[in-house]
Amino acid sequence: MKQRLLTPGPTPVPEETLLELAKPMIFHRTAEFRAMLGEVLADLQQIFVTKNPVIPLTSSGSGALEAALANSVPAGGKVICLIAGRFGERWKNIAKAFGIEAVVVTVPYGQAVQPSQLEAALAEHSDAIAVCSTLSETSTGVGHDVAVFGKIVAKTAAILIVDAVSGLGAMECRTDEWNIDINCTGSQKALMMPPGLAFLSVSDKAWQTIEKNPNPRTFYFDLKKAKKNLETNDTPYTPAHTLIRAMRVSTKKILAEGMEAIWARQSKYAAAARAGLQALGLELFAAQPNTALTVVKMPANIDSTVLLTKLEKQFGLKLANGQDTLKGKIIRLAHMGYIDQFDILAAISGVEIALAEMGHPVELGKGLTAAQRVFAAR
Ligand SMILES: *Cc1c(COP(=O)(O)O)cnc(C)c1O
Repeated sequence: MKQRLLTPGPTPVPEETLLELAKPMIFHRTAEFRAMLGEVLADLQQIFVTKNPVIPLTSSGSGALEAALANSVPAGGKVICLIAGRFGERWKNIAKAFGIEAVVVTVPYGQAVQPSQLEAALAEHSDAIAVCSTLSETSTGVGHDVAVFGKIVAKTAAILIVDAVSGLGAMECRTDEWNIDINCTGSQKALMMPPGLAFLSVSDKAWQTIEKNPNPRTFYFDLKKAKKNLETNDTPYTPAHTLIRAMRVSTKKILAEGMEAIWARQSKYAAAARAGLQALGLELFAAQPNTALTVVKMPANIDSTVLLTKLEKQFGLKLANGQDTLKGKIIRLAHMGYIDQFDILAAISGVEIALAEMGHPVELGKGLTAAQRVFAAR
């Protein structure tokens, strides 16, 4: 059976990128590899929309989050964590692991943290060293207004650290213009790559904060050391260099389309996915949805675990369940990276059939038509 991977990470990888991964091993301390790394990082600056250096790490996306916090905030320092789901909670958990005091601004799952809440937290905690947010909260499908967060944080001494792991490349994100001081992402979401690489951009303001930190409590993720090495396009330790070689193919593919075009296409994909699933009577879970993935609630009598198992076993369609308390209650359809309109239509079609088989009243073709109408509109 043909498999379609529509989970919010990992996501499908283009064939030409996969073929790069089949090539023989190379040595990494060479002029060829340095040139390759330099090229990929320059491409990433365009994808991040930043003039700041982009630092590569050999880890999944969470490694970039850990590096961002550990390097910039000392033990006992204070951060404000904006929490709208599991990934917002990760900020708090990383802070805890490093003895950093986390002031939390929490909204119920499905809601987005509002700029006024951030303003109030900063007013109350003017000693906060950083504000940590998610761009796309992948656990709920919420998108945060990071452009506005950036304006607010820029007026203070704090730095803005953003988890853009599923958002970057799947929704508008202008790192410099939006005043994002440290922007973190991973390879396996919207960047058309397998897992294994993480990247973060660091602003001048953030470098000053990092310089001031007397005790970064990290060895492997030392950003100052990474920055120094990047002067010659080197990394402190052996990078996942075959992934970087493959990444060059994916970043070229992304830049051939262009960021503005990708953001516009992502908006269309999200509009089609929402229209299709809503036409089936399914309600959006996110009050402020992003364009990387669409999350819908299940009707009262439908367990999403059963629905998702049917989709996978019968049709090879792999969508994601809710995590933790949301398990069984929602489905998450990713439309980021190397996923196209026909993958989305296939998913909606599968959901229609599966719901009908589960005895839920659906008119076959209704969701599909609604989604097709969005794609047909110019
Ligand atoms: C996937 C993801 C992460 C990182 O998870 P890893 O498994 O460490 O790659 C972090 N934040 C968000 C919003 C994500 O979607």
